[in-house]
Amino acid sequence: MCTAERAPLAGRHFDVLVIGGGVNGVAIARECACRGKQTLVIDQHDFASGTTSRSTRMIHGGLRYLEHLEIGLVRESLRERERLLCQSPHLVRPMQFLLALSNEHRPLMRSSLAIRTGLWLYHSWAGGQRQVTPNYELERQLDAGRSWSVFSYEDAQCEFPERLIAEWLTEAVTAGATARNYTRLLQVLVRNGRVTGARLRDMLTGKEFEIIAHQVVNASGPWVDLVAKASGLKSAQMIGGVRGAHIVLPQFHGISGTGVYTEAVDGRPFFVIPWNGQVLAGTTEVADSGNPDNTQPSADEVEYLFKSFSSLFPHAGLSRADIRYSFAGVRPLPYSPGKKMASITRRHIIHNHREDGVSGMLSIIGGKLTTAMTLAREVARELGIHVKEPANIFAAPAPANGVESSFRHWARLVACKAGIPESCAQAVAGWHGRHALAIAQTASFNPKLRLPLCEHTCHIVAEAAEAVRHEFAVTLADILLRRVPVALGACWSEPCSYQAASRIGCALGWNESLINTEFERFEAEREKFLHPGDYRVPHPPAVVNG
Ligand SMILES: Cc1cc2nc3c(=O)[nH]c(=O)nc-3n(C[C@H](O)[C@H](O)[C@H](O)COP(=O)(O)OP(=O)(O)OC[C@H]3O[C@@H](n4cnc5c(N)ncnc54)[C@H](O)[C@@H]3O)c2cc1C
Repeated sequence: MCTAERAPLAGRHFDVLVIGGGVNGVAIARECACRGKQTLVIDQHDFASGTTSRSTRMIHGGLRYLEHLEIGLVRESLRERERLLCQSPHLVRPMQFLLALSNEHRPLMRSSLAIRTGLWLYHSWAGGQRQVTPNYELERQLDAGRSWSVFSYEDAQCEFPERLIAEWLTEAVTAGATARNYTRLLQVLVRNGRVTGARLRDMLTGKEFEIIAHQVVNASGPWVDLVAKASGLKSAQMIGGVRGAHIVLPQFHGISGTGVYTEAVDGRPFFVIPWNGQVLAGTTEVADSGNPDNTQPSADEVEYLFKSFSSLFPHAGLSRADIRYSFAGVRPLPYSPGKKMASITRRHIIHNHREDGVSGMLSIIGGKLTTAMTLAREVARELGIHVKEPANIFAAPAPANGVESSFRHWARLVACKAGIPESCAQAVAGWHGRHALAIAQTASFNPKLRLPLCEHTCHIVAEAAEAVRHEFAVTLADILLRRVPVALGACWSEPCSYQAASRIGCALGWNESLINTEFERFEAEREKFLHPGDYRVPHPPAVVNG
């Protein structure tokens, strides 16, 4: 543990308690705090360590929801995509996609005309501002033995939702919220059919205590039913967990800057996306009712993903041995017995436990990274807070090259202030936006803070110091996997972990024993999350206890 003692929460009063610090919980906490509510947001582990960090990381309208005629969801998601592009341009970036459909398997209903009409609607509902340029280089990489229909369209990507959450948390706290990770909800306290507070456990000290809260939002993603059950609520099952896995591969010729949306060997939707200097391929849909703490991809899922990838790009020059990581998360979809998984709605549902005899408590079912802000506004209204719908973002077209020139400007300022090369300053500005200037200021006082975290990265120790001081990072894993997520990078290895632990420890005054403990805990968490290792022969990812 690398943080100072935390102020006690026992006995404190809050208007709203939000359980779960994933994208939904943090968006809700931010909305409530910005509307003047005394808000506490807790997570049993670290913020953004649940489903949110195990997603495909796309900010998308959901082209395939058009096939299920979820028109409202697609339009809302596209509006939110544009809003995120505008509000967080350093973290959410437009991405071109190829929609590649094999003509052998194409169902008759998907005529070229129907697809073109769908894509035209998709483009228009998003405001139709940016032009889409086909990537012929990538198109040529598709398996030439099959006949393809290829279309181009645009969506967006948030490479690091972990960073988006860190920024939203900071905004929530600036607006008066209290944020506490490593704090588990044990029980929601109810008297005379009304929520009165909660019993919590500080997972760092083991101490249990109670707080007073007038309203509680259960935004614990796939843990929603476990939280409701622990609180003795008599609600019917809310979540039908559906696991999704990804594999991470090295980049190959043509993929840079363009994602591919196609169908896997069994006809399921399949994405191959450039991500963080690598390629993310996914995903699967497997019913999963296990404890989400232990979610991991099965050997079969890894095999299925690699087969789907190599049948799509047989000449990419990648073999199973090239798989770097595999990870999985559980989609907290609404419990829908007997329904096909692909057709279960991706729309969020707000369950008011008044129906179960308890007022003052809501549970969130489903939701996407893309629509977390809409969900937050809806939840706030359900809690009785007056929230207006924000103005339509399409009204203000982005200035040509505006974002890129702002980046260059920030990067120059950061380089100048911190005394680091401009290429490194660009990396810092890319993750921290305007806040990079504060990091540069910190770095300017101390050469130890200007050091890179390891030899392979441009990111510097000052970012880690900032994460501990202002972004609630408690462990080395909170820093290297979520606040300054260099350990998700292409060439991260155990020596990098040790070097980063030593450099951060040296700057923050950790002793040798703390450096070693943090290093070991970090490696265990990295293994449990990413399963780095040898994938040459099909094998189940290592099971790590904990
Ligand atoms: C494979 C996959 C791919 C996806 N791809 C996309 C995509 O490309 N784009 C998109 O928009 N969406 C995508 N999604 C959906 C999206 O990622 C999730 O719906 C979203 O992240 C859910 O966020 P959440 O905050 O509800 O849950 P989570 O992120 O899981 O957060 C819940 C938090 O609650 C905490 N918690 C649990 N129990 C307790 C307790 N007792 N006390 C305190 N805290 C507790 C957990 O530690 C956890 O951090 C994908 C999902 C999956 C699984």
